[in-house]
Amino acid sequence: MGKVAVAATVVCAAAVTAAAVVVVRHRMKNSGKWAKAMEILKEFEDKCGTPVSKLRQVADAMTVEMHAGLASDGGSKLKMLISYVDNLPTGDETGIFYALDLGGTNFRVLRVKLGGVGNVKKEFKEVSIPPNLMIGKSEDLFDFIAGELAKFVATEDEDMQIPPGTQRELGFTFSFPVKQSSIAGGTLVRWTKGFNIEDAVGADVVEELTKAMERAGLDMRVSALVNDTVGTLAGGRYGNSDVIAAVILGTGTNAAYVERANAIPKWQGLLPKSGEMVINMEWGNFRSSHLPLTEYDEGLDGDSLNPGEQIYEKLISGMYLGEVVRRVLLKMAEEAELFGDTVPSKLQKPFILRTPDMSAMHHDSTPDLKVVATKLKDILEISNTSLKTRKVIVEVCDLVATRGARLSAAGILGILKKIGKDTCKEGEENQKSVIAMDGGLFEHYTKFRKTMQDTMNELLGEEISKNIIVELSNDGSGLGAALLAASHSQYLEYIEST
Ligand code: ADP
Ligand code: MG
Repeated sequence: MGKVAVAATVVCAAAVTAAAVVVVRHRMKNSGKWAKAMEILKEFEDKCGTPVSKLRQVADAMTVEMHAGLASDGGSKLKMLISYVDNLPTGDETGIFYALDLGGTNFRVLRVKLGGVGNVKKEFKEVSIPPNLMIGKSEDLFDFIAGELAKFVATEDEDMQIPPGTQRELGFTFSFPVKQSSIAGGTLVRWTKGFNIEDAVGADVVEELTKAMERAGLDMRVSALVNDTVGTLAGGRYGNSDVIAAVILGTGTNAAYVERANAIPKWQGLLPKSGEMVINMEWGNFRSSHLPLTEYDEGLDGDSLNPGEQIYEKLISGMYLGEVVRRVLLKMAEEAELFGDTVPSKLQKPFILRTPDMSAMHHDSTPDLKVVATKLKDILEISNTSLKTRKVIVEVCDLVATRGARLSAAGILGILKKIGKDTCKEGEENQKSVIAMDGGLFEHYTKFRKTMQDTMNELLGEEISKNIIVELSNDGSGLGAALLAASHSQYLEYIEST
């Protein structure tokens, strides 16, 4: 070998060594970053753990708060609102009724013809609410709703028309906390789920809707004002007399159940004939020191429209699950360079990662997590992730969904405890208790639903869980509101007396 060649080889070798050093340093740095990412993941996992012992504490706290909320107004974070529904549908309701469901991302209008159980004709339309109306003026929101309702009314077929000379009647499902004054009147306590229309708080929502319907030239009477949980309970009971409670897991979350009227100390009204009253718990506002809150939940709450409120809702409902995931991933991006040395700008945008997308990633069953890769690219403009990174993302989704599902099950156990259905009493061995469920989260997020169900069984034990049935009651709230309009119809006395 000549001198030149030797020199070249030496230079080459030096270059190779230098390159190798860079690679090793890079790897060491990367493994340090990776260790940091794992540390963040582990810490999150520890903080949001929901062992059975903790779930029992949560359930007990729920029961305690239920008692306190029933004892006096303001006695608890749980409003435990009296719904004025003391008679649930029997199946004998007849006639043509409307329902309007406002409570989240969409609202639904529904027209039903009731001819007894199994003989219900339904027609409906779903409209998404323009986001600017969710934070504008009350009149604009109600005008929009009344306008859509009027359009829907205009599509009535001949066989869906009410008798001449009568007025159309509507059950209004309004899924925000309302303090009712009667079955068809009540004032808005506060907005939740991203709505924030200041001039509506304290207003009678039936009056607001009635005025808007008049402005829209629509002759219609609001015969029942119900919360979606109360509607779901009524709709569920129509088809199944074992239904004792309803839980919504959608954009927000809430529950209602049938309480003994004499177990409601703050209820000053006449004891209803049935001896029962449906209570709208407003359980989204539940909070307890036993809830496994993390720094991400605290951040989310602090930045929300309603800090300090709806803490349980922020842990378990569809509006927030994806956002918690985003916050964990953001921390991993910032402190562990999970997505490279710059933090993806889209990942910094609150609420960009929606729960349906989180769910799609969580359910990704492709071996190389293709769905995760696609979602990252489409939503967050993140590409070229390693499979290892994508697995971490699925893991974060799993932790957030599992915590939410298990805490939901604990809440239901709290209700069962309150009404004594968490144990088996003599003579009631086979008495079934059905919880009617509704909401897009429960309906579509399969792993969430399955975990919730498994947790119920885990908490109740084999024997009792045989008698507790958690059942999807799809759009029961619309039907329920129409049924309650029917059972509170202005023509009822007339019909009954003829
Ligand atoms: P709302 O609660 O707004 O009245 P829904 O009951 O239809 O309406 O629930 C809609 C919510 O359900 C969405 O905001 C979303 O959080 C959740 N959701 C809808 N589809 C899915 C899905 N495929 N996976 C997970 N969550 C979903
Ligand atoms: Mg709803």
